[in-house]
Amino acid sequence: MTNRTLNIDDHLYQYILDVSLREHPVLAELRDATRSQPRAGMQISPEQGQFMAMLIKLIGARQTLEIGVFTGYSALATALALPPDGRIIACDINAEFTDIGRRHWEKAGVADKIDLRLAPAIDTLDKLIDEGRSGSFDFAFIDADKTNYDNYYERCLQLLRVGGLIAIDNVLWDGEVARPAQDADTAALQALNIKLHADERVDLSLLTIADGLTLARKRRGFDS
Ligand code: SAM
Ligand code: CA
Repeated sequence: MTNRTLNIDDHLYQYILDVSLREHPVLAELRDATRSQPRAGMQISPEQGQFMAMLIKLIGARQTLEIGVFTGYSALATALALPPDGRIIACDINAEFTDIGRRHWEKAGVADKIDLRLAPAIDTLDKLIDEGRSGSFDFAFIDADKTNYDNYYERCLQLLRVGGLIAIDNVLWDGEVARPAQDADTAALQALNIKLHADERVDLSLLTIADGLTLARKRRGFDS
């Protein structure tokens, strides 16, 4: 018995999937289709997708943001969890990756919920702010270039309603964040983790699922 998070070896990980994973068949297909991609490791894990779907349902999310789509697994998991009138604004810069996603979103019958914006995510988020969408989103998932995470966090926080949730991926960076930073990505994640710890604008929880997922819930009184 332990009151610390367990080390998950392959055997225990498989057990977790065996007794808890309920993966939509098109999500499983998309995982298969992504496996052959050279950057397949960028895809979120299936139990993380299931957890995010749970969060989306728990907070009754309708309007969501996604920063970093790749082949569309997290967008598809989100779209399947949203109600029929729910929408995702999904940001990426790579049409080759997102075309794979689009085909699977169509196959799963949720393509109309996903508004893909192929442009640097900062531009898309700034445009939403300029259009007066601040305070109107329920959920945001940040999973793109790590050196811009703080830029994404600040913009997403502004775009979120009070009680809305930001989920920030890879905050443990394979354990590198706990060692002296050797590169810009690690340094950016370390700086954001430290900033979030002291950030009074949000309630905070760092989950040890997958590569670390921080949840930041927007508190009342910090609307701009
Ligand atoms: N969430 C995805 C999933 O479930 O499979 C994984 C996202 S992957 C880790 C990161 C993505 O961020 C890549 O598809 C990459 O093209 C995209 N990206 C990198 N820089 C970006 C930028 N400046 N603006 C928008 N997207 C960017
Ligand atoms: Ca990730």
